[in-house]
Amino acid sequence: MSKDRKEQKEAIFNGIPASPGIAIGETFVVNVEDLPVTDDQVADERVENEVAQFEVALNETEAELDKLHKRLEEEMGEEHAKILDSHRMILADKMVKKETIELIRTRRVNAAYAFYRVLDKVLNTFDNIKDEYLKERGEDIRDVRRRVVRNLLGQKVEGLANLRKKAIVVARNLTPSDTAGLRRKYVLAFTNDRGGSTSHAAIIARSQGIPAVVGLNDFSRRAKPYDTIIVDGITGQVVLHPTPETVKIYREAQERFKEMEQELLTIKDYPAVTLDGKTIELSGNIEIDGEVEDVISHGAKGIGLFRTEYFFIMRDTLPSEEEQYKYYSGVVKRMGSDPVIIRTLDIGGDKIARWAATNQEANPFMGWRGIRFTLSRKDIFRTQLRAIYRSAVHGNVKIMFPMVSVVEEVRQAKEICEEVVEDLRKGRYQIGENVEIGVMIETPSAVAVADWLAREVDFFSIGTNDLIQYTLAVDRGNTRISYLYSDLHPSILRQIRDTVTAAHKNNIWVGICGEMPASVYGSLLLIGLGLDEFSASSYLIPEIKKIIRSVTYDETRSLVRKTLNVTTADDVRALLDRFIAEKRPELKEFIPESKS
Ligand code: PEP
Ligand code: MG
Repeated sequence: MSKDRKEQKEAIFNGIPASPGIAIGETFVVNVEDLPVTDDQVADERVENEVAQFEVALNETEAELDKLHKRLEEEMGEEHAKILDSHRMILADKMVKKETIELIRTRRVNAAYAFYRVLDKVLNTFDNIKDEYLKERGEDIRDVRRRVVRNLLGQKVEGLANLRKKAIVVARNLTPSDTAGLRRKYVLAFTNDRGGSTSHAAIIARSQGIPAVVGLNDFSRRAKPYDTIIVDGITGQVVLHPTPETVKIYREAQERFKEMEQELLTIKDYPAVTLDGKTIELSGNIEIDGEVEDVISHGAKGIGLFRTEYFFIMRDTLPSEEEQYKYYSGVVKRMGSDPVIIRTLDIGGDKIARWAATNQEANPFMGWRGIRFTLSRKDIFRTQLRAIYRSAVHGNVKIMFPMVSVVEEVRQAKEICEEVVEDLRKGRYQIGENVEIGVMIETPSAVAVADWLAREVDFFSIGTNDLIQYTLAVDRGNTRISYLYSDLHPSILRQIRDTVTAAHKNNIWVGICGEMPASVYGSLLLIGLGLDEFSASSYLIPEIKKIIRSVTYDETRSLVRKTLNVTTADDVRALLDRFIAEKRPELKEFIPESKS
């Protein structure tokens, strides 16, 4: 495809390693967020046609917004549907339309470019405004612009659905639902300009065993379709136009990685037990039902986190009780008597459901998310709980609430569970008995009141992905400040210690379903901190099992005691490095830097 690109110089880009593995292949560039608008000229005889196309795109966008409005009104009420009012006003603005058409006619530029420029002028004035409300209207303008441009260029731009052969997906910002919808059979790897190691696109890559690098800044603009690139999801490096020598080096590294994966799989049926006999339950995290097979084939003994929100965000409308019942039951049946922890809907943050409008907030991660959403939309919550209790009849189901920050939330949610159980019994439905209820510990306030929470529930599962972002006040998807996002920080270790103490004092078990066990450092600390269960993306499970089986609980406990006495994440890492070098050098192979 790229004859003339042969002489192009090799360039190396450094991002954040998001999912281990190495891929070499041609790019498939998608720009799901901003479509590339270029200032291509239009031939004289095509100018009026371009104007007509612009008008069609405006009408299409209007129809799109009408549909969305209607759906929001039906599902969320009139108040929520109103958020689209300003979008519609922008679209109907006569000046914007007139200026765009003038620009097409006078400068002979294409409609997308003309519209883009006209709205740029409007946006410039918005950007200098301090008022938060008006700033948000700026976002509305950007959204309208994206919609219209998408309708103008949509046909010409490659979309993920067009992927028909193996390629490396290069994107500006794949959303969680884009990522969950990737066809694994064609996606060799993916890169994202935005995001951090625990943004949900990265988590899904790990769950699906797709190598990925995120936080690459402007890489999607530097790579062209069909360029040859290498993605190293272990070190976070991406090589554009690699030389034959570089390709050779990476092919060898790829082979070594595959061999190591195969070797690790040989222990898949062994128990996750330390050298001195402490057993840790090892389960898998899943986002969609199809991932269950991976969990089983990688040797996990249960599902420690079923992120049910993906079932809701990958579609345009709310799933019914029957649809959810079937979906959950499929997973529960497949796991037999092994536990399946079904987390209730955790939309919000970066997980946006088209029908819920949770992204129309200044701070979505601190906003209407998780249990806050479901407690204010009890209809949605009840329907989900009914489906979960009904599916529980087929196996060993536990329910878990996300994003809990105060005890009242748990009490209210439990009350709703009781009402749902009573209703189902009255309706003569068969339901699971003794379904345990747990909460995620992922906000600093939940840690602070963990002793009280522990009296309300049967188990805890620590969500370090969020706990880190809320504790260190560092957005988990923001590349620029990702240097601060660390599970080795003493503030995190202390909070995990306090959570485990609170749980054990109250005789409940405590697990982890955040991404912390994904590194050898995280796993060692979590063993020593006394966690009873680890739940992780399936492709990471063999490595975690190997680490558990390579150490004694006793030595990791004394390691943790030392780490709790130092002041920085770097000090903690230094202690871990020393422990590995002196006590368990065989674990060095799991430290990414020492591979290259
Ligand atoms: C977490 O926050 O650690 C967690 C497991 O939940 P999620 O990544 O889905 O926010
Ligand atoms: Mg979370």
